[in-house]
Amino acid sequence: MKMKTPHRVKPHANVRLSHVSSNETGKYKSQQAANADLEKHRARLDQLQELLAAESKHAVLVVLQGMDTAGKDGTIRHIFTGVNPQGCDVTPFKVPTPLEARHDFLWRAHNAVPPHGKIGIFNRSHYEDVLVTRVHKLISDKEAMARMEEIVRFEDMLVRNGVVILKFFLHISHKEQTHRLKERLSTPDKHWKMSEADFAERRFWPDYQKAYEDVLSRTSRKHAPWFIVPSDHKWYRNVVISEVMVEALRSLKMKYPQPNFDITKIRIR
Ligand code: AMP
Ligand code: MG
Repeated sequence: MKMKTPHRVKPHANVRLSHVSSNETGKYKSQQAANADLEKHRARLDQLQELLAAESKHAVLVVLQGMDTAGKDGTIRHIFTGVNPQGCDVTPFKVPTPLEARHDFLWRAHNAVPPHGKIGIFNRSHYEDVLVTRVHKLISDKEAMARMEEIVRFEDMLVRNGVVILKFFLHISHKEQTHRLKERLSTPDKHWKMSEADFAERRFWPDYQKAYEDVLSRTSRKHAPWFIVPSDHKWYRNVVISEVMVEALRSLKMKYPQPNFDITKIRIR
């Protein structure tokens, strides 16, 4: 997959998040220009999704990860507005249920992988099992490394089975999170989105950044790449992700299948 975006993480890169800008806006000088491109990408995405369904040889798996308030929900709303709802499945990953906790950590992820012809969006993902669990020391560093290798092999197996995997880390600064949490606090209609845990998790910010750096450094692959998306500006985040999706789907060179009967012989009376 060749891509224009500068935000892709090369395999085995040594990612230092403090060296990566969270507020850049790339080639865009204004929000209007970015939104105009987002509009084009959405329209293309709708056509490409139909082709994906018609051909049914590939599935697309979009993984969204990021700190609280990074914009996972907003991304889903903005980018998939206009795409046929029948062609997309969104799976949120919450604290594992008792049944999920009794299985291997990839069980629930595997079960939610989209079938050929569909786009599947993971709102959080199997990566939580090397992030939140690691930060709270529910697993050792050694276990986390082993899991990351298992994730790479799991994703490789999916790729070989026709799943296109695109993983987005929504990168925001601590300052931007402060701003967004304050905004939520002062907007009663946003209170439902908050939990005490969000404020507690914030204290672990440096540990999360470190755990993310390991994930990004160790699990980005040519066919299952990570993208570090500067996300302090929501409009830049949206245009980056939608562009990557359009490019990835285009590169599949999909074709509508031929009908399995002779169309010239059909007469409608
Ligand atoms: P939200 O995305 O705001 O709905 O929150 C979901 C919560 O579930 C977050 O606090 C995640 O850290 C937590 N979560 C997701 N996956 C796991 C996991 N495998 N183990 C523990 N907590 C998890
Ligand atoms: Mg949350």
